[in-house]
Amino acid sequence: MRYAIISDIHSNLEALRAVLDDAHGRADAVVCLGDVVGYGAEPAACIELVAERCQAVVGGNHEHAVAGLLALDWFNPYARAAAEWTRDRLDDDHRAWLAVLPLVRELEDATLVHASPAQPDEWEYLMSAEDGYAAFPAFATRLCFVGHSHVPGVWMQGSWGRAHEPGVGEITIDPGTRYIVNVGSVGQPRDRDPRAAWALWDTEARRVSVRRVAYDVHAARAKIVAAGLPRFLADRLAQGR
Ligand code: ZN
Repeated sequence: MRYAIISDIHSNLEALRAVLDDAHGRADAVVCLGDVVGYGAEPAACIELVAERCQAVVGGNHEHAVAGLLALDWFNPYARAAAEWTRDRLDDDHRAWLAVLPLVRELEDATLVHASPAQPDEWEYLMSAEDGYAAFPAFATRLCFVGHSHVPGVWMQGSWGRAHEPGVGEITIDPGTRYIVNVGSVGQPRDRDPRAAWALWDTEARRVSVRRVAYDVHAARAKIVAAGLPRFLADRLAQGR
């Protein structure tokens, strides 16, 4: 089985479409690690496309904020403005869909979670080597796929020791090693590469690769500006930060 694992779409329909096009023919199924909404201009269309195309979806902090399950004062001013704007543009069906997403799911030999598998509703970021190493006891599967930081990377732990590789492109799954893989962000990359990121997990080839896809950043930016969302949210897309 070949899974496309996508995360942090953030209402960026151009990026989502480009990733689904890239995944078409490469992956047999698509799963989503949350933050479908927030920041971008097309929350409803992104929810509908994810609901239609994804076999499994877990919720992120932006879903919880828009569904009223997380206080907005948790967010910085840009995220808060976007969450309020998003809330007003969704109907009851969209909000109901967001509100019932589980925070953790298992898929074959992998755990799917938006933030840290340790206390997923605390929304902790896995950034440093130590952050990732500390999360291994919190899941039972061989692999754990995460998003949230918008920066691709992998943490590995085995009898040989442990390692952290930020910005990883491809890993071959070794039977004696466990992995946490951050798949990066579809709609708002923050690793100075503005291209959309997603991960292809091939269970038979025992390989995970993070792919990058160019998309129409100009169109996504223009929609954010036209919507009256904070201009910073448009400009950061071009810089991948
Ligand atoms: Zn996010």
